[in-house]
Amino acid sequence: MGSSTRPARATASSGASPRRIILLGATGSIGASTLDLIERNPESFVVVAIAGGRDHAALARIALAFRPEFVAIRDESAYAPLKEALAGTNIQVAAGREAVIEAATREADLLVSAIVGAAGVEPTHAAIEAGRDVALANKECLVCAGVPFMRAAREAGVRLLPMDSEHNAIFQALGGADPATIERMIITASGGPFRTWSKEAIENATVAEALNHPNWSMGPKITIDSATMMNKGLELIEAHHLFGVPASKLDVVVHPQSIVHGLVSFADGAVTAGMGAPDMRVPISHCLGFPDRLAAPTPRLDLAAIGSLTFERPDYDRFPSLRLALDALAAGAGLPTVLNAANEVAVEAFLAGRIAFGGIARHVAEAIDAALGNGSAKEPATVAEALGVDHIVRERSRAILAGR
Ligand code: NDP
Ligand code: MG
Repeated sequence: MGSSTRPARATASSGASPRRIILLGATGSIGASTLDLIERNPESFVVVAIAGGRDHAALARIALAFRPEFVAIRDESAYAPLKEALAGTNIQVAAGREAVIEAATREADLLVSAIVGAAGVEPTHAAIEAGRDVALANKECLVCAGVPFMRAAREAGVRLLPMDSEHNAIFQALGGADPATIERMIITASGGPFRTWSKEAIENATVAEALNHPNWSMGPKITIDSATMMNKGLELIEAHHLFGVPASKLDVVVHPQSIVHGLVSFADGAVTAGMGAPDMRVPISHCLGFPDRLAAPTPRLDLAAIGSLTFERPDYDRFPSLRLALDALAAGAGLPTVLNAANEVAVEAFLAGRIAFGGIARHVAEAIDAALGNGSAKEPATVAEALGVDHIVRERSRAILAGR
């Protein structure tokens, strides 16, 4: 957990100067929830820099509302319209890969890492190397480059706050416990839209069906990952790195109501759980305010109104992506990097209508077999090496899936 014992800097409610925030992925779902909370606490936060991918109109709207010093957009062709929209302001504008890295390394108290996919790895790593504390929504950082990424955080002495709801719940449930006393860490899965579907029906699910998540409203990539349950596999890999817990102590339980998000069971049989309504503003608030708590306008939990909370085991036969991720976690080395890259490209192909829903897991399995066969799955020693593997797998996956 980074150096969580370090004294806190100025915090949201300490009466000190506002906390300076960098927001990567400002135009996305996590970005919107983060901005909603910041807007409601204007004395506590100032947005220093924002970054997005290609939606220049949305990024410009956010910039005009929050007045950051610096705005970066990844897509260079979006520079001119973004610059034009912000003409007459003193907001600096830049585009391209270096621009996103510059946004990530501006002077700030906390960076919110909410770019989707492995595209978030390089700027988040740069922020860590520049000494920024990070609230991590982007789980792909830890799946693509877990070992070197965590090492960089340790060496830089930065704090990594888990923003993913399950990990945030576990972080809160841990309450500073001695890691040696932890027996199991359990994350819950809603089961997604296909929890009760047959294997045959899941195979040919449409894009609209897969995007129809029962409990959470999120960006398209993570919504598809929730439908395949790859998301839960990525989250187990994330938990392994974030909390330093071996795969053998990690578990998943399906919990369709999404009220209990994560549990920790200890050597004496005690279990602590992190709970809350399924609203990402709960864990985002925790990260923004940490170690204090913000007052957030999130739905309050009324257990009597919910009535019953149910739990079931995951079905690896109907959700083979979850099994693939568990196997990659157990095998370690470069396999999670390969799994992540192949999955991202396969999800893109599914969303573009080029492959069937069942084709996502088949492609990931094939990419892992290929990596095992050609020896390209060795442990990446650095974040740059992990991104090198990511690039190779991505190119290969694109070539394979382009024609379909
Ligand atoms: P969205 O798809 O809603 O948003 C993605 C953001 O990333 C957008 O701002 C997008 O910009 C930006 N982006 C995409 N590609 C690039 C790039 N190459 N360079 C810079 N910016 C880029 O995703 P979510 O908000 O749903 O998810 C973000 C991350 O948080 C993911 O890693 C996800 O797994 C994680 N997460 C999300 C949760 C949720 O509830 N949504 C819950 C837990 C974790 P543009 O709009 O211009 O394309
Ligand atoms: Mg999650």
